[in-house]
Amino acid sequence: MTEDLLKRIEELEEQNKKLKERLRKRNNHSVIKTKKKDIVKYWTLLQDECGLSVDWAEAHERCWRCGHKAPLQRCHIIPDSLGGKDEPANLVLLCSRCHIDAPNVESTTFMWDWIRANGTAIYDTFWSLRAQKEYEFVYGKSFAQELIDRDIVSDYDLRLFWNLKIGRSVHHFAHPWNNESTDAGLLKMRLDEFDKNHPVINKKSEAFREKEKEFEYFILKVCDIAKKYNFDVWEGRSQNPHSVTVSSWIDRNKKNRISIKLFKGNIYKACFTDEINPNRNKAKDYVIELGTQESAIKFLNKELEKFTNEYGMKEKQKYVFTINPIFHLRDDEE
Ligand SMILES: [Zn+2]
Repeated sequence: MTEDLLKRIEELEEQNKKLKERLRKRNNHSVIKTKKKDIVKYWTLLQDECGLSVDWAEAHERCWRCGHKAPLQRCHIIPDSLGGKDEPANLVLLCSRCHIDAPNVESTTFMWDWIRANGTAIYDTFWSLRAQKEYEFVYGKSFAQELIDRDIVSDYDLRLFWNLKIGRSVHHFAHPWNNESTDAGLLKMRLDEFDKNHPVINKKSEAFREKEKEFEYFILKVCDIAKKYNFDVWEGRSQNPHSVTVSSWIDRNKKNRISIKLFKGNIYKACFTDEINPNRNKAKDYVIELGTQESAIKFLNKELEKFTNEYGMKEKQKYVFTINPIFHLRDDEE
């Protein structure tokens, strides 16, 4: 059965190849013979990488216009159909999206002017910057200003913002990427969702922001330790900010739940708790004074090690709920 299927797949692939070849001949597309590495070599000597979206060291794998890592296509400077030659001097490397946007004119210089005008300083920001431009075009206000007005300025708040659940988007048929208006629409939906959840903006104080930053760093370390001992992690939200509970359950008699909370003056306190959700704890529950972040980490390491030595380890982590989405364990891993 499996063998038959594999054989059929092979046959179909072969048919596919022939069909594509026939289509190519019918469309009369000439095959470009110039090698990509020769195109890179040629332009590296002639064009200064300063001001481009791509560093020459990565020009074989990043698009020269947008700087994103993507399969690269050889794009004619003067189009093939206008007599442009198949040689390094008449070719640049672009991703498929930029290839469609690229100019098709009988000019030897405009392609490079266009590529340079599109230069962005930081990798992988080109398309999000385009979306922001489109947003500004529609609303007459910069997206950055929209964020500032909502006090979304720290890494912490930005992560929360990007993690908001919003409506969906799709691609137009045969366009395997979002166009700029779609991306701009997604920005608007994100702002709308934020506004729905925050009818009133209370600007955070500098001191609160510092605390947030301190705790975010702590959470990174907590996640590392929890992963090592297969403990679950749950970070507190607005009901119990700057708190986290790590827990393990092997059976009714072999369980451990430790919650740690950051208090004023950067003092960490802990408690052993029945709750796996730190949002159900009260500030007064935290009775064990730990002191600095360093001591809190030491305490956690020691407790998890002690528990593991005594009762062993749960097979795997079940969940990691943190405000930083990077650390979330996905449900489909269950
Ligand atoms: Zn590109």
